[in-house]
Amino acid sequence: MWKVKNLVDYLREGIVTMIKTTQKIEWPVALFLTLNPLITLVLAPIYFYYYGFQWDILLFALVFAAATNLSITAGYHRLFSHKSYDAHPVAKFFFLLIGASAFQGSALKWSSDHRKHHQHIDGDKDPYNINKGFWYAHMGWMFFKETVDQPIAAPDLQKDRLVQFQHDHYMWIAIFAGFAIPTLIGWWLGSALGGLVIAGGLRIALTQQSTFFVNSLCHTLGKQTYSKEISARDSWFVAILTHGEGYHNFHHKFQIDYRNGIKWYHWDPTKWVISSLKFLGLATKLRQISNSEILKARLQAESLEMTKHGFAEEKLAALKEKILEAQVKVRHLREEYEKFKVEANRKKTERHDAYEFKLQELKRELALASLEFKTGMKLWKLYLRSI
Ligand SMILES: [Zn+2]
Ligand SMILES: [Zn+2]
Repeated sequence: MWKVKNLVDYLREGIVTMIKTTQKIEWPVALFLTLNPLITLVLAPIYFYYYGFQWDILLFALVFAAATNLSITAGYHRLFSHKSYDAHPVAKFFFLLIGASAFQGSALKWSSDHRKHHQHIDGDKDPYNINKGFWYAHMGWMFFKETVDQPIAAPDLQKDRLVQFQHDHYMWIAIFAGFAIPTLIGWWLGSALGGLVIAGGLRIALTQQSTFFVNSLCHTLGKQTYSKEISARDSWFVAILTHGEGYHNFHHKFQIDYRNGIKWYHWDPTKWVISSLKFLGLATKLRQISNSEILKARLQAESLEMTKHGFAEEKLAALKEKILEAQVKVRHLREEYEKFKVEANRKKTERHDAYEFKLQELKRELALASLEFKTGMKLWKLYLRSI
C-alpha cells in the first residue's frame, strides 16, 4: 500500500514538472526549429528520387542561401544592430525581405536581442549566454519564453518605417520570402517541390545553423586577440562557416567597425558585400576603427597574458609605448610624404632640386620610422613566442 502511494506521488510530481516545463516552452519557435529540418529530411530524398539532381535548382538554392546569410550578417547584424554603416532604402528593403526568409525573427527583435548580448555579454541578461552551455547558446535559448519574449529595446530602429513594417507583418513576409518565392522559382525551373524543399526548407535549416554558430562556436573556438575578459573568439575556420562573423573577439571589442576580419586576406564576405554596396552607391559612412586603436587593444591583451607568465610589466609597457609611437610616426610621415609628392609634381618647374631634396629626406625618415616599428613588433613577437 505504502509503495502504491509513493508511486502515485512520484507520478503526480512528474506530471506537474512536465506541465510546468511545457508552459515555459516557446512552442511556435520550438516546433519550427524541430519540424522544418525533420520534414526536409523526409521530403529531400523523395524529391531527389523522382527528379534527380537538377543543377539549376541546386544552384538557385545555393545563391539564395548565400543571399539569406548575407542579409542576416550585413543587414540584420552589421547594419541594423550595430549601425556600422548607412544604407540606401533599396539595400534595406532587400535585407529586410531576404533576411525574413531566414526565419530568425524580425530585424527589430533580432537586433534588440543582439544588442542585449553585446551589452551583457556572458552575464545573466545575455539572451544567449555561453556560460549556460554550448547548446543553450546555439539553439536552446530559443526554446524558452523567458529568453525569446524579452521586450524590444531599440527605439532608433522603431522609428525606421521599413524596419517597423517588416516587424508588424513579419510572419507573412517570412512565409512569402522563405517558402512562396523559392516554390515559385522552383516551379519556373521545372520543379515546385525542388524549390520548396531545397531552396525553401533545406536552405532555411542550413542558413539558421550558420547564424547559430555565431552565438555558440564564436564564443568557444579560437583566440581572444583583443580582449581576454570576454568569451568571444577569433577563428578563421568559424569565419568560413559564418560568412566572416568568426572574427568575433574583434567584433565584440569594436562593434561599430563594419569589418570583422580586418586584414585584406581575412575571410569576411560580409565586409566585401558592404564595400561593394558602397561602390554601387547603396552604402555610405562605413565606420572603421583606426589601426592604432586596434594595435593598442591587441598589445594590451597580449601584455596581460605575458605578465601572467612572469614578464615585467614596466618593460612591456615601455616597449608597447615605443611601438605605438613608431606606428603614429609612420602614419604621419607617410601622409606628409604623399602630400609633398603631389605638391612637388604640381610645381615641377620651380625649385626642382629643393623639392627633390626634401622628398628624399622624408623618404629616409619614413624608412627609419618603419624600421623602428618593425623591430619593436619583432621583439614583441619574440617575447610572446617565449611564453
Ligand atoms: Zn554583434
Ligand atoms: Zn557574440
